[in-house]
Amino acid sequence: MKLVAGNMLWTNINRIPNQYHYLNKSIQCDVLVIGGGISGAIAAYYLAKEGVNTVLVDKNIIGYGSTSASTSILQYEIDTDLYRLMSMIGEKEGVKSFELCKNAVYEIEKIINDLEDHCDFSLTECFYYATKASMVSSLKKEFDARKKHGFHVEFLEKEEAKKRFSFPTEGGIYSKFGAAQIDPYRFTHALIDQSIKNNLKVYENTEITNICPRENHVLLETKNHFNIEAKKVIIATGYEGRKYIKEKIVHLLRTFTVVTKPVKNLDGWFHRGIIRDNNDPYTYLRLTGDNRMIIGGEDEKVGGMNSKMSNLSHDDLVSNKKYDLLVNRLKSYFPEIKDIVPEYQFSGLFGVTKDGLPYIGEYEDFPHCHFSLGYGANGILYSILGGQLLRDTILGKDRPELALFRFNR
Ligand SMILES: Cc1cc2nc3c(=O)[nH]c(=O)nc-3n(C[C@H](O)[C@H](O)[C@H](O)COP(=O)(O)OP(=O)(O)OC[C@H]3O[C@@H](n4cnc5c(N)ncnc54)[C@H](O)[C@@H]3O)c2cc1C
Repeated sequence: MKLVAGNMLWTNINRIPNQYHYLNKSIQCDVLVIGGGISGAIAAYYLAKEGVNTVLVDKNIIGYGSTSASTSILQYEIDTDLYRLMSMIGEKEGVKSFELCKNAVYEIEKIINDLEDHCDFSLTECFYYATKASMVSSLKKEFDARKKHGFHVEFLEKEEAKKRFSFPTEGGIYSKFGAAQIDPYRFTHALIDQSIKNNLKVYENTEITNICPRENHVLLETKNHFNIEAKKVIIATGYEGRKYIKEKIVHLLRTFTVVTKPVKNLDGWFHRGIIRDNNDPYTYLRLTGDNRMIIGGEDEKVGGMNSKMSNLSHDDLVSNKKYDLLVNRLKSYFPEIKDIVPEYQFSGLFGVTKDGLPYIGEYEDFPHCHFSLGYGANGILYSILGGQLLRDTILGKDRPELALFRFNR
């Protein structure tokens, strides 16, 4: 399944830090993690840190799935606004979901302090704004819901917002806390490097083709016909994890990204924060540590009427039109920044769930197997939650939060 296409940012600006052999014999372990993207790397990190005998396999090479295309905006806010989420799943549960995401942002900060590479991580601020006057009332509702439940937010009216940003805005929610950004490819490799010191075994080019749960363990087969016997399995295969689940749990979109060369000044971009509007589809912006501007959006449904979207070619008319739109939008938003030159342009599949929450935990047909499927815009924070919750479950601790992310919700 082709997940990404184009001239990617992270895998181009970073050399491949490490390469790993494929599995060439049958082995046993306590936990097998399938998938070497950010979700698998985080899960393996937590387990190896606890001294659990863990093996991680990837059918391709580490970090080259969806992780390689991620914009890696880390925000406690979920794509489903809090007031909407509360009406869908309950007030307590909605607030809990937002709180878990907020904690996950600061958990990444803690993990970074444990790693040798800081992975271009930075805590930052965030502006969630309306481009149309008619969209302001829903933002005010969202502001009220967040404020009532203890999230630190301020509402910037139109005139105030215009003093901070050079693009047209009707006002929006400004958050000083609960947001960050990172290089996801470096993070994935740094987590694995650290875990190898804690005895994690890693195999690339090792595809799991068969998963057979037995009474007390799981027997797995690789494409090269070697067996892995594991007491527990974590399935962190990203959007390919859908194939194990009978129900339709995710809708796929294709999203487009443009990254510029580093720019000299940031006039009109207040405090280097994350910026996103509340349109559907929305436009999102962030900066890298070396002042590259990243703009993403222009999402299209995959399949259906516009089946061109699913073949993920890069140099087609549709993609080029989307990239041009994004570059022009960036230039019009920041007229004072004169050296905006696009350098990387790519697209990737992106999954959304009915409530914006991920699927984490066991699934009826797979005893001893635990899924970490961080579908949704908060994929990386969901990977943290998946890693923590599944570590604790495997270590025998009860985590009632898993009810929020169960399959049959
Ligand atoms: C364009 C784009 C922008 C995004 N922006 C953001 C953002 O701003 N913030 C955010 O939090 N999230 C964002 N996301 C989502 C986030 O990037 C993903 O949730 C995250 O990268 C998924 O990581 P993963 O490890 O679950 O999946 P992947 O990175 O896809 O890794 C899964 C791995 O499993 C391996 N695999 C699959 N099947 C098998 C098998 N049978 N055997 C062995 N290995 C297997 C694959 O080779 C792959 O390496 C974005 C995603 C995209 C595409």
